[in-house]
Amino acid sequence: MKGFAMLEIGKVGWIDTERPSAGPYDAIVRPLAVAPCTSDIHTVWEGALGDRKNMVLGHEAVGVIEEIGSEVKDFKPGDKVIVPAITPDWRSMEAQDGMPMHSNGMLSGWKFSNFKSGVFAEFFHVNDADMNLALLPKGMPLEQAVMLSDMATTGIQGAEMANIKTGSTVAVIGIGPVGLMAVAGASILGAGRLIAIGSRKVCVDLALEYGASEIVDYRKGGLVEQVLEKTKGKGVDSVIIAGGDKNTISDAVKIVKPGGTVSNVNYYGTGDTLPIPRIEWGSGMSHKDIRGGLTTGGRLRMERMADLCTYGRIKPEKMVTHVFEGFDKMEEALILMKEKPRDLIKPVVLL
Ligand code: NDP
Ligand code: ZN
Repeated sequence: MKGFAMLEIGKVGWIDTERPSAGPYDAIVRPLAVAPCTSDIHTVWEGALGDRKNMVLGHEAVGVIEEIGSEVKDFKPGDKVIVPAITPDWRSMEAQDGMPMHSNGMLSGWKFSNFKSGVFAEFFHVNDADMNLALLPKGMPLEQAVMLSDMATTGIQGAEMANIKTGSTVAVIGIGPVGLMAVAGASILGAGRLIAIGSRKVCVDLALEYGASEIVDYRKGGLVEQVLEKTKGKGVDSVIIAGGDKNTISDAVKIVKPGGTVSNVNYYGTGDTLPIPRIEWGSGMSHKDIRGGLTTGGRLRMERMADLCTYGRIKPEKMVTHVFEGFDKMEEALILMKEKPRDLIKPVVLL
């Protein structure tokens, strides 16, 4: 079967690879809609995960089940499903310990386009189908559903990790699709003042629609100075990092109050260390909590993300600025994600 793959660091292309088969608890899925992720860009062009040879890319998909293993109880061939980017091994000690995304090793719940072939293929394999797939709700548009695999769950997780208290002040650094979902999540979780930081107009407009109370353009002056000025030098209660470069974590520590929380979902693709500013971190005694996480995957999480759409709490389909049709367009969509033209938020490929 055909798949669009990372050939080596810095190189992508089409490959012929073996069609996967299902073990007793697994499913084989044919994609109906897929989306490239900024993480694919870090993986290929920054070599962030190390070299990968001929690994099919993609971890955001909605699809139709083609085949199931003998022990799969809740799904059958023909069912349309939302596939999470993270498909943990639920029979693992890490999952028992509340860390399914790190089941059997750090980041190992993230299998697609990391440890095994991803979803940019004619068919792909899903481990533990009953625990990792969610039925596509009747009538849910594919463009909306495919935003749940990764963008909604990741952005909202950024908000969940940020210790947001009702009415507290939150800054979201980066308002690409992940940051936009973080804005929506922070709004649902009760942020009062909600400062969104980005520059592209399409993203700014949607951030305001999703609940941002104001915008800081980091290209028009220092991010730290602008946020501190807005908050009369006090800083914010929580910062969610969903974009930026390796200095962004330093910016976040500088704008968060003592006792506040920095919640990172950004993927740092290069470098050995990240800078934490000593003075602003209170020489180690500031009670400024720095957290970072890979998003939660699995069925329940996807069902909850779907409910957020069904009951009108989030509208992630508004982030889809570019829709392609046909398998061959996966390449174009991925390259678009790499180049990030100013009118792009997120591309989707319908199959
Ligand atoms: P985008 O590239 O679409 O958005 C990045 C945002 O960061 C943009 O708003 C951009 O602003 C802003 N930005 C860029 N540089 C700076 C800077 N120096 N200071 C402040 N803001 C800056 O990314 P995505 O939304 O697609 O993804 C965000 C991150 O999340 C990526 O690193 C991705 O790999 C990661 N990710 C993590 C996951 C997880 O599980 N933890 C899962 C999925 C993704 P501008 O408006 O100027 O473009
Ligand atoms: Zn991703």
